Amino acid sequence: MVYDIIVIGLGPAGSTLARLLKNKKVLAVDNQNTLNKKPCGGLLAPDAQKLLAHYDLVIPKEVLVSPQIFSVKTMDLESKMIRYYQRYYLNMDRYLFDKYLVSLIPKNINIINGRCIDIVKEDNIFNVAVRTNKEIKKYKALSVVGADGCSSIVRRKFYKDNMMKYMAIQEWYKCTDKSNSFYSCIFDRKTSSSCSWLIHKDEYLIYGGAFDITNCKQKFEIQKQRVAKFLDIDLSNVYKKEACQVYRPKYYCDFITGKNGAYLIGEAAGFISPSSFEGISSAIKSGESLAKSFNKYNDLSKVSTSYKHKVLPLKIKLILKVIKRVFMYNYFLRNIIMKLGISSIKVNK
Ligand SMILES: Cc1cc2nc3c(=O)[nH]c(=O)nc-3n(C[C@H](O)[C@H](O)[C@H](O)COP(=O)(O)OP(=O)(O)OC[C@H]3O[C@@H](n4cnc5c(N)ncnc54)[C@H](O)[C@@H]3O)c2cc1C
Repeated sequence: MVYDIIVIGLGPAGSTLARLLKNKKVLAVDNQNTLNKKPCGGLLAPDAQKLLAHYDLVIPKEVLVSPQIFSVKTMDLESKMIRYYQRYYLNMDRYLFDKYLVSLIPKNINIINGRCIDIVKEDNIFNVAVRTNKEIKKYKALSVVGADGCSSIVRRKFYKDNMMKYMAIQEWYKCTDKSNSFYSCIFDRKTSSSCSWLIHKDEYLIYGGAFDITNCKQKFEIQKQRVAKFLDIDLSNVYKKEACQVYRPKYYCDFITGKNGAYLIGEAAGFISPSSFEGISSAIKSGESLAKSFNKYNDLSKVSTSYKHKVLPLKIKLILKVIKRVFMYNYFLRNIIMKLGISSIKVNK
């Protein structure tokens, strides 16, 4: 059997695509499970909320975690400056959110829990090798879609994968004391050219950050000590540690949508905010855009052009965030903005 489309990855991008495809023979392959969860802050930004609302979708209560967040406590460890900014995120269990999106995929779509380990294109047919618990099986399709996040196998096989990456490392700590629950964004130029975060999720506290790949483990440990000292909190009782790479788009050419039957959506295409690493909204938007293009055209060259046009506003939005990044991540500019208190809110303790 030759599928019309094989979707690799069922994060927000892949599950949105799979949910919206019409009249196609589709196979979806994903290797996320309880032992292999996507490391994430699990914050659903307003743009993502709006996209879900657009499909009349609501988030089940089980997906949400406590506390819900109204502001981000932003701190610079070097200047010791702290400011609060209003935010409208939903605080979620990311794994349950992904499972919820997968549950919306129509039953006619075949889903395999396994890892795609190879893709070869021969005579316009893609041969996709998938490793499951039991065996390695091969599947054929006219198109493949890389919805497999950073370091996507589809991107590595068919396109350039030289976009800048960070190593995101997160640790979870058991934390029953909820008296000081908060969501923090941390800057520390001594240990990272990016940012870090602290988020409470039910009975856990997550501390994580994005680090330059060289010596990332040491930089994480040094920064962790600095954060613990600055906030006077205990980060020694580690419940679990997780890590994955995360893209940071810098140039327009970092965004690759694909052509000739090999397409990219979500983070695999480079669609992630370079300033905040918010990526769920871009994943949903690009999955929706490719689904609409597949539903409208059978000719693959038309699918490519249509998808490229549909995601142009998304590319422009993300490129503008490259400029925003300069203000956020330059030590002097950031501290001037924080000192002036621009857009910050006054917190009375
Ligand atoms: C530490 C961290 C924190 C973040 N926090 C936030 C946040 O709070 N809010 C936000 O909006 N964004 C956040 N992001 C970004 C966000 O997680 C991603 O941009 C978003 O998940 C991208 O969605 P996606 O569907 O493109 O890919 P992913 O969510 O990465 O999904 C890819 C899926 O493909 C599967 N997969 C990968 N390779 C294969 C393979 N070879 N075979 C089969 N399956 C495969 C994976 O298991 C996964 O299920 C964060 C990122 C990181 C790293």
